[in-house]
Amino acid sequence: MSVLENVLDQYSSRVYKNRKEHMVDVNNNENNNQIAANVRTIPGIITQRGCCYAGCKGVVLGPIKDALQIVHGPIGCSYYAWGTRRHKGKTEEGVDNYLQYSFSTDMQEPDIVFGGEKKLKKAIAEAVDLFHPSTIFICSTCPVGLIGDDIHAVAKAAEKEYGIKCIAYSCEGYKGVSQSAGHHIANNQIMRYVIGEGDREIKSKFAVNILGEYNIGGDGWETERILKRIGYEVVSTFTGDSSIEDLKNAHKANLSLVQCHRSINYIAEMIEERYGIPWMKVNFIGVQGTIETLRNIAKYFNDEELTAKTEVVIADEIGLIADDMAYYKSKLKGKTAAIYVGGSRAHHYQFLLHDLGVSTILAGYEFGHRDEYEGREVLPFIKPDADSKNIESITVEPDKEKYHLYLPEEEINKLKEEKLIDYYGGMIKDMANGTYMVDDLNHFETEEFLKRLKPDIFFSGIKDKFVAQKSGILSRQLHSYDYSGPYSGFRGAVNFARDVTMGIYTPAWSFVKAPWKNTPVLEGTLGGE
Ligand code: SF4
Repeated sequence: MSVLENVLDQYSSRVYKNRKEHMVDVNNNENNNQIAANVRTIPGIITQRGCCYAGCKGVVLGPIKDALQIVHGPIGCSYYAWGTRRHKGKTEEGVDNYLQYSFSTDMQEPDIVFGGEKKLKKAIAEAVDLFHPSTIFICSTCPVGLIGDDIHAVAKAAEKEYGIKCIAYSCEGYKGVSQSAGHHIANNQIMRYVIGEGDREIKSKFAVNILGEYNIGGDGWETERILKRIGYEVVSTFTGDSSIEDLKNAHKANLSLVQCHRSINYIAEMIEERYGIPWMKVNFIGVQGTIETLRNIAKYFNDEELTAKTEVVIADEIGLIADDMAYYKSKLKGKTAAIYVGGSRAHHYQFLLHDLGVSTILAGYEFGHRDEYEGREVLPFIKPDADSKNIESITVEPDKEKYHLYLPEEEINKLKEEKLIDYYGGMIKDMANGTYMVDDLNHFETEEFLKRLKPDIFFSGIKDKFVAQKSGILSRQLHSYDYSGPYSGFRGAVNFARDVTMGIYTPAWSFVKAPWKNTPVLEGTLGGE
């Protein structure tokens, strides 16, 4: 029996049938590597996914530092608003920074019975009184959707009363099958009410937006450092260490760089449709990944001087990290890893692991859709279901005044054909034969796969981290990087290699014994019983 069959075989026939579709033995199946994704988790299974509100508030909106973000709901939901995600932001003069704060309406039973709008209005008044913010976001959680508070009407009234920007997000936790739905809801409102409003002067024609970069552990800062060294102007970052003013000017860039495809491809596409700015899938995780990305960006801008500077910076940065990387590679070469995170990270980190001689034997996403696994070529074949139809999909028209093309249309079409822009190939193309892809990996399956595949490292989130560590397997969090980072770009690769090496070689593992190591493998009877 294969590893997959062994894990699945322990389920009832109904669960077996469902979960089988979420597992792929890469290039060793009759289904052309097709995987089921972005569908409901079976009730009762301990999933590691987050809710729609977590995707909206926790992922996309959370890192915007100068928007005061009120969570309208019970205080428990605000766990996601309490700095758990380590999206860092610098305090700048003249720009508010609310990242260290957590604002909640703290709904109680009477608010559920009689409605919470009054409480929300009061919370806004209090916030305005204390902080004088230029922008307020209101994020609703499950009970708000169930009782029907009209947060959009409250936001409109607040805009009028206080003369500020106030945007409401109907991102109740139950709205989607995972946090992915929340990303979409956040993207829609930012597109509607923020992008395109700015009139900042852009100094360089090499002007880019960085999309899907949330500055976890300072990743965005490292990426920006490299881009600036080469000569790019970063107009806005969605949304790591960003301000509303930055986001308002996104329409002025000449290319959007998409790091996390799942959380932001909606904005990338809408920016292109409305303002003519194409997007490029990039990956700043891993030394080779970063080099390839920098060369691709230079190819798009097609400028001799910029291309030459790109090579100079690459050579210089590599020179600075070569010794460290060689040392850590000597420590990690031959190790194996399993990765279960996000909707792009499980792909990106395979490049960095490969730089260090570590092979990935299992990878999966919590909230990826089929295109993150199989590439955007499957988009026409994904049938919308009731859950995906539940999330509004907005269409945009070209903006007559702000629409601009950096390259002539024929050249853009050529780059599209070459798949340099407007394309993402998905994870499967970079996974070796005989490795495994598992979507929505649950708690039970995590233990089973670790037991059977015995990877040296399991990269995950906080919910599953300690399951692995109690089994004697090192786990590093790739959602928040535990307490470390940045891991992006050249310097980040060294930080990552150092952390993993330290983790693997710590003597603590000699004191941990996996539960299954104490279980007898032989079964027998005594005296013929
Ligand atoms: S699922 Fe609902 S109740 Fe739970 S954290 Fe998300 S919004 Fe709050």
